[in-house]
Amino acid sequence: MLYLSRKMYFSAAHYYRVDEWSEKENQRLFGPCSNPHGHGHDYILEVMVKGKLNNDSGIVVNITDIDKVVKSFVQKELDGKFLNKEIHYFETHMPTTENIISYIWNSLDGKIDNCQIHKIRLRENDFLYAEKEESTLVRLTRKYHFCTAHRLHSDQLSNEENREIFGKCNNLYGHGHNYYLEVTVSGKPDPITGMVSNLADIDQIVEQEIMKKFDHKNLNLDTEEFKELNPTSENMTIVIWNLLSPKLRNLFKIGLFETEKNYFEYYGPEME
Ligand SMILES: [Zn+2]
Ligand SMILES: [Zn+2]
Repeated sequence: MLYLSRKMYFSAAHYYRVDEWSEKENQRLFGPCSNPHGHGHDYILEVMVKGKLNNDSGIVVNITDIDKVVKSFVQKELDGKFLNKEIHYFETHMPTTENIISYIWNSLDGKIDNCQIHKIRLRENDFLYAEKEESTLVRLTRKYHFCTAHRLHSDQLSNEENREIFGKCNNLYGHGHNYYLEVTVSGKPDPITGMVSNLADIDQIVEQEIMKKFDHKNLNLDTEEFKELNPTSENMTIVIWNLLSPKLRNLFKIGLFETEKNYFEYYGPEME
């Protein structure tokens, strides 16, 4: 089986509001997204399909055939629209990233000849995207940024061994990074709010449990978590998982960019 991905763009407006709720309730849950006049995004959609190689042509499916189905759907149904007002599906489903992905999946599945949709990813902005694969629930990823100093040094190793393994990262006074943290939750979008988990809640939990502890800090000197634990990104993903998982019941994955070049993932102790 071969997999190929096609990226496309569209711009759309939306708002998040439940008509039966008071203004205050809408504000509390959806914040600025509840503005009834709407706001908008430049969405990036990636559709990955899978299929068998055609030995004669050397391709799985002609990209123009994907475009005929996917791009024409995106252009006709989504691009340049006000989702709540112009698309029937979103009159009864909140146009959250999670619900838009379900709508795209249901609309396109089985429509492209010679291949099947394997995965859809929809990026609302640099700090939020949703994805879905065959027979999985929708996953929502929220991205955060923090700046932190650390020194890689293990008490279990000699000074010599530490220097050998960690090189300049073992510098006595430490050094630092621009970390980008991805928190992914998985689940069924709520029938009313259209959300897998309330974004404001995730933000508040991450602020409390991670940002306050780690942002603009020295991990080795300022945090309880790394007083005796080597603050490698591997250990950081596990520590972050352990801090968030009791509060985010549908936590699926922790992704951590230590730098643009170094990225780490952890799926929790059950996946070990
Ligand atoms: Zn929005
Ligand atoms: Zn480092």
